[in-house]
Amino acid sequence: MSVSRSVRQATSVSSTPSSLRVVETFVSIQGEGPFCCRRSLFIRLSGCNLRCPFCDTKYSWSAENAREMSIEELVVLTGKTNPSLVVVTGGEPLLQRAALEELVRMLYRLGYVVQVETNGTLEAPEPGSPLSQAFFVVSPKDVPVKVPGAKTHWSWFDLARRYGHVWFKFLAATREHVEEIMRYVEENGIPRRLVYLMPLTEEGMSPEQVLELHKRVAREALEHGVNFSPRMHLLLGLK
Ligand code: SF4
Repeated sequence: MSVSRSVRQATSVSSTPSSLRVVETFVSIQGEGPFCCRRSLFIRLSGCNLRCPFCDTKYSWSAENAREMSIEELVVLTGKTNPSLVVVTGGEPLLQRAALEELVRMLYRLGYVVQVETNGTLEAPEPGSPLSQAFFVVSPKDVPVKVPGAKTHWSWFDLARRYGHVWFKFLAATREHVEEIMRYVEENGIPRRLVYLMPLTEEGMSPEQVLELHKRVAREALEHGVNFSPRMHLLLGLK
């Protein structure tokens, strides 16, 4: 079946928002988390409800850098690029929840695997809803680095316990970071199998320092019974 015919069929029952504010789209290797190393289409949405000082995608905050892309356009792009994974990232993708849900619904129908990256401050999707057909990766911003106003919404912990379509990715550089993260994991009842520790790199680190930090965090992850995520794109010099 042609992509455009599939798109028409997938849209035929929908009357919800038909476009998203997109900052950029590109194909690369997913460098982090549970789908690491998959060839992915990245769709970066505009707007964020936080202002993390360490944010490396500040250009996604402003609507000035965005353009409206129809859901149909994004689905056709997915068909053309034929990725193993579609990563919807930001900014904070859940600020455009209704249109995002529509995109997920259509891509799921067409057989694509969709991962949504979120800061976890907005409510999680309802289990069984079209949005919950995506896999979610939450990067909490209230531990160990604490961003003002960045409290993780309780519904993500609930979703993790009931549904398992969600992973938590924590940045860590030191033993103290890891201990703080593990206390948080226990307090919030997050199953350890859904937890990733990922190296918290700093600007100006040499490749050797980045690799050394990876080894240290991987050892911590093993010791604490959680997963380790590399930052493959940094190691390989990819976007
Ligand atoms: S939540 Fe993510 S996109 Fe938003 S400011 Fe923080 S790091 Fe940047």
